[in-house]
Amino acid sequence: MIKISQPLIYQEEKKAALAVLNSGRLAQGPQVARLEKKFAKLCGTKYAVATCSGTAALHTTLYALGLGPGDEMITTPFSFIATANAILMVGARPVFVDIDPKTFNINPEKIKKAITRQTRAILAVNLYGQPADYKKINKIAKKYKLFVIEDAAQSINASLGGRKSGNLGESSCFSLYATKNITSGEGGLITTHNKNYYKRARLFRNHGQKENIPYQYQDLGFNYRMTEIQAALALEQLKKLNKITKRRQAIAKRYNQAFKKVKGLLVPYQAPDRTHVYHQYTLRITKEFKRSRDGLKKYLEKKGIEVKIYYPKPLHLYPHFQKFGYKKGDFPVAEKASQAVLSIPVHPLLREKEINYIIKTITKI
Ligand SMILES: *Cc1c(COP(=O)(O)O)cnc(C)c1O
Repeated sequence: MIKISQPLIYQEEKKAALAVLNSGRLAQGPQVARLEKKFAKLCGTKYAVATCSGTAALHTTLYALGLGPGDEMITTPFSFIATANAILMVGARPVFVDIDPKTFNINPEKIKKAITRQTRAILAVNLYGQPADYKKINKIAKKYKLFVIEDAAQSINASLGGRKSGNLGESSCFSLYATKNITSGEGGLITTHNKNYYKRARLFRNHGQKENIPYQYQDLGFNYRMTEIQAALALEQLKKLNKITKRRQAIAKRYNQAFKKVKGLLVPYQAPDRTHVYHQYTLRITKEFKRSRDGLKKYLEKKGIEVKIYYPKPLHLYPHFQKFGYKKGDFPVAEKASQAVLSIPVHPLLREKEINYIIKTITKI
């Protein structure tokens, strides 16, 4: 079976993890601090805060920005559940806005209509590895005095107009989960320019405790700390990030060339001002294709190619969002996309033979 994702763990990662195990210091410490410094540099932001997961990074960011009950947050219904759950975690109300059918990201043209007096923030997601349209999003946010938050879990090393993902809003959240472009098994990072939010995020991550002053709780907090083992792994992975990104982009280019000629297949659209880091390579299967989306999925699995649907159901249709009054038909573009998308393997461990096999298997249909 050709896997849809595989972590790239080499000798350097193993050595780094072992060195931490031998050091006697396992919980948050100097490795975490080093990672934060390197990560802020990568994104071009003043600060970075490491957490134990991307979900923890989202929750921490929303708390640090002071979002809570009574506030409305605009977001996309076409994402991983953690995006919208983070809004619920701080007690705010998620207000979904439909997506752009080409990029699968939130449609900025539809944001204005969703703004009310309670709206405080826009949480955009850079789905599959391509930044949302922050030029338009930031313009709206400025006019209505809203925070812009990037869910950058899938877009590490991507950019928009020369600015790195992580530096496109007030604060951004990354994930180092095992399937992400770089990984520490589990892990997350927050970036921001704002010293106040940075301080609040650091407190929230560690029970509201000021660092090096135990039992002085300044505020509510969690245990969202990253371990030294995770940080050591992430530091090694960061060194390989450019190589990993380039490889994903090169495989995507091969796929684009092969699949754009196939009737009924739409290859990923890349906006002219953005770089796409292809966390996923996602095809849209239209009615003109020989097989249905689900039929194609079954066929490729039978042929030994693991493929996945990201995401099979838009977020507004899950039970715990029903209390906000959402129903089928509210976001037709996202609903249609969830019926038509299929992601195929694009990770750097794919061999030439496997890439050719995937191309041949699909184009032959
Ligand atoms: C992976 C992911 C998250 C959550 O990250 P975890 O590290 O798994 O908690 C949030 N949002 C998006 C878009 C993701 O892809």
